[in-house]
Amino acid sequence: MASAQIASRASEAVSLARQAWRLLHLDAARAITLADRALAVAQAHGDAAGEGWARLARGFHLLYFARPRDAAPELRAAQKAFDAVGDRAGHVLARTGLARGLWREGRFDESLDAVLALRDEGMQVLRHDQRGVLLNTIAGCYSARNQSEQAFAYMYQALRDARPARGHGFDIVLHCNLAHELLQLGDYDEALRHIDAGLARSDERGNARLVSVLLINRVICLTELERAAEALPDVARVQAIPTGPGGRGRLAAHFETLAIAALRAGDGAVGRALVERAREAEREDIPEERIELAIAAALLARAEGDLDRAVAGLEAERPALERGDKGLSLRVRCSALHVLSQALEARGDAADALATLRLWQGLAAERARLASQAHAQAAALQTELLLLQRKLDEKDAQRRATERAHAELAAINGQLSQKIAEVQALQAALQQQATRDALTGLFNRRHLNEALPALWAAARRDGRPLAVAIIDLDHFKQVNDRHGHDVGDRLLAAFGQLLATRLRRGDIACRYGGEEFCVLMPGTEAGAARRKLESLLRRWRAEALLMGGAEAAGTTFSAGVADSQGDGDSGQSLLKRADEALLDAKREGRCRVRLARAAAGAAA
Ligand code: GH3
Ligand code: MG
Ligand code: MG
Repeated sequence: MASAQIASRASEAVSLARQAWRLLHLDAARAITLADRALAVAQAHGDAAGEGWARLARGFHLLYFARPRDAAPELRAAQKAFDAVGDRAGHVLARTGLARGLWREGRFDESLDAVLALRDEGMQVLRHDQRGVLLNTIAGCYSARNQSEQAFAYMYQALRDARPARGHGFDIVLHCNLAHELLQLGDYDEALRHIDAGLARSDERGNARLVSVLLINRVICLTELERAAEALPDVARVQAIPTGPGGRGRLAAHFETLAIAALRAGDGAVGRALVERAREAEREDIPEERIELAIAAALLARAEGDLDRAVAGLEAERPALERGDKGLSLRVRCSALHVLSQALEARGDAADALATLRLWQGLAAERARLASQAHAQAAALQTELLLLQRKLDEKDAQRRATERAHAELAAINGQLSQKIAEVQALQAALQQQATRDALTGLFNRRHLNEALPALWAAARRDGRPLAVAIIDLDHFKQVNDRHGHDVGDRLLAAFGQLLATRLRRGDIACRYGGEEFCVLMPGTEAGAARRKLESLLRRWRAEALLMGGAEAAGTTFSAGVADSQGDGDSGQSLLKRADEALLDAKREGRCRVRLARAAAGAAA
């Protein structure tokens, strides 16, 4: 009783935690409430699986709404719990979360190493949105390394795995990330389509964080398309989203991005306020954000007529822009160089402006090249990922085919051995029918005809005697007449039983026909055979009397005995002499055993 209760509590923790996981992208606040409850239930009942899933949901929530270093201990605890119960899917997801944390800290190479090590197993043990989480993390790493074609391949695969019906809102994340990747390459129209798809699936009350990221991406697209004024409503909307779990969490609000849009749209006041907020915001040192802030500051300085400040701020970042630091996108580098060259030109530094413009040109060309390459590859999706998926599918199909073949083979084997058993039983039955008499179970006359010549020849060859006895039940007709045929049958069967049990193993007892029997006794002389028959007669009288009462009919028999040491040159002549001896016995008054006349002489 107690253990059943614990089991049901345990599954309650797991199901609460899984519910929390499914709500992470649709209703973040409810997700964390459920995850906390799941953890409490799991801990109260020592349920490691429940604890793993609860901590996993909490860890991912912290990844989204807090700092990576807040999430890491939770994810490590989740991994430990999963390892305790051997849950590989949970293990892979917890480690994916830890890798995502590295990515958030800008440690892209470490993150990619960690997450690629999980890929093959993850492809096997994860499904739907969970697989999407893994693939999206891989995609993020490639994106940060400017390997867009890989990023696209993983994202599109993730989007297929996390379709709206099964994605539990993770498809929104993927629309968002695809849009970001597309806009980095300059495909703003396609990016806007994904943003709209993501926004259509989102509920701002449920996950304001995702909505704010989608809106920020839309602001970038519109700004780059020189439609910054259209972005102003989104700029306002993002600013209105509060921090904390009910809002965008601790996710950077990308005030610098919003500031660039506002300044490009000519709204100096909003731009200035946003630059201020961007400077105040607590953040990890993400190169992309730092450069965008420098761009916003330069634009603000220009708007305020301070060209030196505009140039100085960006010149300070020139080495990073030329090097192309990890995590720094071509888009932002281009944008910064463009703003810098314009500021230099406005200040009258024509040569520096031109040199910067050349730099910009080179990067813009590189960006265009990457864009077309990524497009081609994304369209074909001929990546190792798809090959892996196909290999997995093939292996799966092979396994299923092998299982099917095994099952079919087993079925055929089963049918075959059943058939063999049937045939064997049939053969045994036929053999039985061919050589046995149905009523008494003794051999039949056909078998006698086969066995007698062989035994006769063997006896002659070995110089050993062979005795033959023919037995005829006395007055048997009267049994039928008085008691009916059935009683007669039963008496015959009983006599057969007597012969079968009382004769030697090497003797052959046959029903010769009707109430007549024949016994072949290898290695036995006629005299010994007669004594054996007389002993059988005594026994039969006793048994038959017990069975049928005091009447004489059928309870006695007469027998004639002959052996191979008398006259005769065949089994057949032996039979004949035994039959004659039987007639003698009948004539002399029945209920007796007689030796064949010639044999009697020889024996005397
Ligand atoms: P005797 O002492 O001279 O041998 O007299 P008998 O009545 O035994 O001899 P007879 O040959 O006149 O009759 C044999 C009877 O055995 C005739 C037949 O009804 C009976 N009989 C033969 N085969 C079977 C059988 O399979 N079942 C039964 N119930 N009776 C059988
Ligand atoms: Mg007879
Ligand atoms: Mg008889």
